[in-house]
Amino acid sequence: MKEGIHPNYQQTVIKCACGATYNTGSTKKDLHVEICSNCHPFFTGKQKLVDTGGRVDKFKKRFGITDKE
Ligand SMILES: [Zn+2]
Repeated sequence: MKEGIHPNYQQTVIKCACGATYNTGSTKKDLHVEICSNCHPFFTGKQKLVDTGGRVDKFKKRFGITDKE
């Protein structure tokens, strides 16, 4: 085993703008994200950040996108 090939893999805390923190392993440390699985509408389905006032629905209708397959 040669040394110096792998970068330092360490415990990292990812902090989101919503306040959520995630412990993970990374070669970087103190990662900051503006959106995460806790607050992203794609993950929550609540669309609380993006869809204020049904804008997403209007967008879908405008382009003929429906949730139905
Ligand atoms: Zn978040």
